[in-house]
Amino acid sequence: MAQLLRQIVRSTALPGARCFSSQAAESLGPSFQLSELQNDFQQAARKFAREEIIPVAAHHDRTGEYPWDIIKKAHSMGLMNLHIPKSVGGMELNTLTTCIVAEELAYGCTGIFTALEASTLGQTPVLIAGNPEQKKKYLGRLLEEPLVAAYAVTEPGAGSDVNGVKTRAERKGDEYILNGQKMWITNGGVANWYFVLARTNPDPKVSASKAFTGFIVERDFPGVIPGRKEINMGQRASDTRGITFEDVRIPKENVLIGEGAGFKVAMGTFDKTRPPVASGAVGLAQRCLDEATKYSLERKTFGVPIAHHQAVSFMLADMAIGVETARLAYWRAAWEVDQGRRNTYYASIAKAHAADLANKIAADAVQIFGGNGFNSEYPVEKLMRDAKIYQIYEGTSQVQRLIISREMLAKQGTQ
Ligand SMILES: Cc1cc2nc3c(=O)[nH]c(=O)nc-3n(C[C@H](O)[C@H](O)[C@H](O)COP(=O)(O)OP(=O)(O)OC[C@H]3O[C@@H](n4cnc5c(N)ncnc54)[C@H](O)[C@@H]3O)c2cc1C
Repeated sequence: MAQLLRQIVRSTALPGARCFSSQAAESLGPSFQLSELQNDFQQAARKFAREEIIPVAAHHDRTGEYPWDIIKKAHSMGLMNLHIPKSVGGMELNTLTTCIVAEELAYGCTGIFTALEASTLGQTPVLIAGNPEQKKKYLGRLLEEPLVAAYAVTEPGAGSDVNGVKTRAERKGDEYILNGQKMWITNGGVANWYFVLARTNPDPKVSASKAFTGFIVERDFPGVIPGRKEINMGQRASDTRGITFEDVRIPKENVLIGEGAGFKVAMGTFDKTRPPVASGAVGLAQRCLDEATKYSLERKTFGVPIAHHQAVSFMLADMAIGVETARLAYWRAAWEVDQGRRNTYYASIAKAHAADLANKIAADAVQIFGGNGFNSEYPVEKLMRDAKIYQIYEGTSQVQRLIISREMLAKQGTQ
């Protein structure tokens, strides 16, 4: 074994065999060192969360008011739309960098972060499947003004089972006529445009991979009718609504790729968006750990800070284990997609792991705060309410396990 390893090191050092030294070859392995650019973005997002988001988070949670002021500031500071390609004037940062920013913003308030992240979710189908004109028109618009997009796939009768989508689009000349109803759409009432998945082939025997089409639908198209804002358990700053489409006329230019390609576009989106969702859950978990640590050093029982009771310090240790491992999982998922590789497996692991841990960590933070943890004067009850949705949106924790097991078994089958 040792000989084999020496041989590998020697061969990588041979001129011509590979054009880098053994040291350089080693440095191509995993690295936990952020680049200067990543570090700069992380610091800017951290400062923004501390100075702009945290002071208003409780207000938005209490009132449910949409955080337009934060969106305008984040937009002017260049903390939004980081992934939009340079070809349309964006920064084209990679997924890992956007996730690092996402974790910091979510630390401030995941309700406000979800308002931002849902816009990324809405944009991603255009990013991965849009033609140059569509990208210029719809992504470019988001760079020019502090506007947001939304992703409209779920319906009252179709959440995990996307194949059950009933919204219909019928071709009439150069247009499609859209009719149906979506549910649980984040940014549903505030978006400038939506990605909408609709059935274009009415034959129930046609496979999902051919039956659906993805459209860009503008909020101002006649017949787009957002419903009332839903009152949710947590993340109340974000805007969740049903949307009704009544004879909405969509120009054929707004079809992504082509008729029948919608399911692939809608599902392919998640490979890119689940890592940032996971990083949001990590931001929340880190906040819980920080709040609980601080409180445990201030609150005294039996003559000592509660952090000195092993039962409490071990809870903090378990929370730290959760935060660190969940962070590693989303870094891996983001890094994989940045290498141009299919990261479905890692994206689902990162999302499920971070979501489950954020919920456990938030519940433990409430426990450490004791009675105060149950009260809205302290920050952790909001964190616990905000955490729950991570196990539900962008695929439930059960659906992530379905994907992970499928991917794993398929890989086994090919070996
Ligand atoms: C606040 C919020 C924001 C959202 N934002 C958006 C958005 O922006 N855009 C959008 O399109 N959607 C959005 N959603 C919808 C969300 O993605 C769905 O709610 C989610 O996918 C689950 O679908 P469902 O609610 O229909 O639950 P169901 O699919 O009915 O599932 C119910 C339960 O059954 C389990 N289950 C279902 N099928 C299986 C299976 N095969 N194996 C094991 N367990 C299973 C689920 O895990 C869950 O526990 C949002 C939802 C909420 C609550």
